[in-house]
Amino acid sequence: MRFLAFAISDPTPCRGMGHAAGAVDLHNQDCARALLAWYDRDRRILPWRAAPGVAPDPYCVWLSEIMLQQTTVAAVKPYYEKFTARWPDVRALAAADEAEIMSAWAGLGYYARARNLIACARKVESDHGGVFPDDEASLRALPGIGRYTAAAIAAIAFDRRAVAVDANVERIVARLFAVKEALPKARRRIVELADRLTPARRAGEFIQAMMELGQTVCTPRAPDCGRCPIHEYCRAFGEADPSLYPVKARKAPRPRREGIAYWLEHQGKVLLVRRPQRGLLGGMLALPTDGEGAPAEADWREAGAVEHVFTHFALRMRLLCAEGQADSDGIWWPVERIGEAGLPTLFAKLAARGSEWRRAA
Ligand code: SF4
Repeated sequence: MRFLAFAISDPTPCRGMGHAAGAVDLHNQDCARALLAWYDRDRRILPWRAAPGVAPDPYCVWLSEIMLQQTTVAAVKPYYEKFTARWPDVRALAAADEAEIMSAWAGLGYYARARNLIACARKVESDHGGVFPDDEASLRALPGIGRYTAAAIAAIAFDRRAVAVDANVERIVARLFAVKEALPKARRRIVELADRLTPARRAGEFIQAMMELGQTVCTPRAPDCGRCPIHEYCRAFGEADPSLYPVKARKAPRPRREGIAYWLEHQGKVLLVRRPQRGLLGGMLALPTDGEGAPAEADWREAGAVEHVFTHFALRMRLLCAEGQADSDGIWWPVERIGEAGLPTLFAKLAARGSEWRRAA
């Protein structure tokens, strides 16, 4: 079988050479078949995954795909369940209060997704009568739906043949074909190879099977090749360390930034502000920060700092605390119920420090 593995894994002869491409495509089909057989047998039960033989609900597919962007299955599950219990379809979500949605999203991160979620639900309602369009091009025209998500929704929800390449698929394909070129340059080649692998039928299940394999077997650091249903088709399997794929270009170190947040208290309430719609954590409730200046003249005391890592930079934020008058603009929130304010993680960490400062004062 190692001969077969080598035949599929060397993609170069496929380019413009009829017989070689045909041979490789046959092996690709076998590989896809083996993967789907494994998925049929071993797939996990996930709240957004339709049972075999049941038509998937496009709303559930879309919601889960947006939530799963750069976020783990374990982190998404409780949010997905909360959202579908509260807003069971796209019409309910389109009619919901924006602040309530932002607050329900708090803690899941990448808040632009929540703002786009609302905009997308409203556009589906206004332009498509509350029904998701079923082709990639129309899906891509909706807010927050990029190339990958449009392909995934078209395939999973509407059984269209589409090629969806996320980080999981990128990793598996780079290993299967031992792609030596580094990311991000290799991306175009990887999409071509993923296209060759994608079967004409069951494309939606194929995408889900690839994701499942990437999350449970062909993981970034420790691929469990002995358990892999497609190892006989994998070129990296024959190499010393499959985890070296995908090859990545060296990244510039993440820049560090500094900031200050303010905990201003008055009679058991703390001042919160809603952040501007555009920019970091836009639209979320938060403590005031130095971007707008101190919210009041007061005897500010240092209460430590928290570190938080965003995609493009790391942030160290100092917390200054004070007692003050309730004459600053914002929302005065009961300190005892600060956990219910729906603060994003950075400000939830700062609020925990503020509460400690209060107890110690
Ligand atoms: Fe990934 Fe290993 Fe399977 Fe290759 S054999 S696809 S490296 S788990």
